[in-house]
Amino acid sequence: MIATNNKGKLSEIKKLLPKQITFYSPKDFNLIEPIENEKTFEGNAVIKARYCAEKSKLISLSDDSGLEISTLNGDPGIYSARWAGKNKDFKLAIKKVYSKIKKKKKLNKENNARFYCSLAIAFPNGKYKTFSGVVDGKISSEPKGNNGFGYDPIFIPNGYKKTFGEMKANTKDKISHRYKAFNKIKRYFKY
Ligand code: IMP
Repeated sequence: MIATNNKGKLSEIKKLLPKQITFYSPKDFNLIEPIENEKTFEGNAVIKARYCAEKSKLISLSDDSGLEISTLNGDPGIYSARWAGKNKDFKLAIKKVYSKIKKKKKLNKENNARFYCSLAIAFPNGKYKTFSGVVDGKISSEPKGNNGFGYDPIFIPNGYKKTFGEMKANTKDKISHRYKAFNKIKRYFKY
């Protein structure tokens, strides 16, 4: 079970998993989204994976991730999805990012940022393990590109000139926080 209803995450995770696996999603079991009330990406990833594993009796993989901006003391961080509001409007969330940076008068200076991803695997017997990945970069002077999802149009990874939103999916997929976390899973299970 891929324990997410986020289409962007789902498509990236599917590409990372072996082709011969049949995937299920929370919708296949009519599962609601559990409340994510932990204070860390790891904690919230574990809530989602354990909930799905318990309800479906399937091995479940969840993703809790977000953008941390140094000028904003790590915000939006674990609140990355919540900044987009009930309608999951990321144009609104991105506006909020720029307006908060502007208030700190740092819009024209480099705003270091990173994407953090915690992947949790949970088993129907209650056991679980988390794996994390990070990609460092900065916030672009304005949103650019329509590829990807969420905050991709405003994040330029170190060593690149383009935002994730301007990059081809397979370029992002080779350097992303999600890819790095997934590599740790691969090493752990030696596949
Ligand atoms: P959550 O893990 O469901 O709390 O949501 C994480 C949020 O962080 C997503 O809805 C995105 O807005 C953002 N996010 C996480 N990973 C990425 C990414 O790879 N690109 C852009 N935004 C991301």
